[in-house]
Amino acid sequence: MQNQKPSRDHSCPPETVAELGEFGFIADLRRRLPPASGDLKLGVGDDAAWWQPESGSGILTTTDMLVAGVHFDLAYTSAANLGYKSLAVNLSDLAAMGAKPACAYLSLALPAELKKIWLDEYIMAFLGLAAAYNVQLAGGDTVAASELVISVTLNGLVNGLASKNKPVLRSGAKIGDDIYVSGTVGDSFLGLQLLQGRLERSDIDVSGATFLADRHLRPTPRVDLGHRLAASGKVNAMLDISDGVVADLGHLLTASGGLGAELDQAAIPLSRPAFELVTAGLTDCRGLLTGGEDYELLFTANPAVRSKISEIAITAEVALSRIGRITNTEKIFMSVNGVTEELSGRSGYDHFQD
Ligand code: ADP
Ligand code: MG
Repeated sequence: MQNQKPSRDHSCPPETVAELGEFGFIADLRRRLPPASGDLKLGVGDDAAWWQPESGSGILTTTDMLVAGVHFDLAYTSAANLGYKSLAVNLSDLAAMGAKPACAYLSLALPAELKKIWLDEYIMAFLGLAAAYNVQLAGGDTVAASELVISVTLNGLVNGLASKNKPVLRSGAKIGDDIYVSGTVGDSFLGLQLLQGRLERSDIDVSGATFLADRHLRPTPRVDLGHRLAASGKVNAMLDISDGVVADLGHLLTASGGLGAELDQAAIPLSRPAFELVTAGLTDCRGLLTGGEDYELLFTANPAVRSKISEIAITAEVALSRIGRITNTEKIFMSVNGVTEELSGRSGYDHFQD
């Protein structure tokens, strides 16, 4: 009789990243990926990806790095939420330039003891969001490290824009421009406070709490809106709100040559749960304007194009609020019940100073 060797099919499936190994992970990943298509001629599997967009297309690239314990806390961030958010923040950056996303690159530093199931959930959520925006995962790198680090790079194209296919920059704001913001602001900040237990769940109804936590964990990148705004040629300057309205508006004003802004507190768009927390005195409007990670778009446009901007809001199905105007003061002021206050601008989260 022949010696019966245990067949590989019956060996224990890998439970940790160490058991799975780098090549096991890449093989798993390749099984999940659809074949490269369109402008992507060659995706995961060779020494480099081959991407060949139509000649003359403007190619935009953005990259973001997330470190466990710094940018996310595994205690309240699930693998699926992280898979979603690590791509969503890059989609938001391209949206802010008016670009259409195309190819993503995912680099992972993984602790050996990380569970394979965690990684599976992470990848499934990442690929789920990628598919929703027609993004192909074209490559990346996988290494072992003591902390989980995720780096996502995203390429996109600016085609079909009114401004000769030039992306919308932060630097184009003009004195007298209207300032707009999409969606609502401050939800992500409140969601984070809830997740961290700094705001009591009992202070808010269940659906409100879920909404706010979701806005922090799964922000919607305004890709279609950003592209439509850029394609209209009517927007002078744009960025996405990652550091908070005050800090990001400050970045736009500085980039536009040291301009200022006057905001109207009554025009700041708040969600129902955020409004209720403000009304109950549990948070204030200024806090909501300095809290980050809303991933809404902030942009400026000449008052002559207001009706065009309203049309875009309707077509893109995203609310747009006119919150103020650009001035020459080099400062940000806000009118609160008829009284004008200066919003002292901290310039956002600084990784080396905060
Ligand atoms: P090399 O040693 O030539 O750099 P690798 O073994 O690192 O190749 O990667 C093999 C293939 O798998 C490449 O196409 C690479 O882009 C892809 N890849 C590796 N890690 C990832 C990842 N985390 N996400 C997507 N693709 C990956
Ligand atoms: Mg490599």
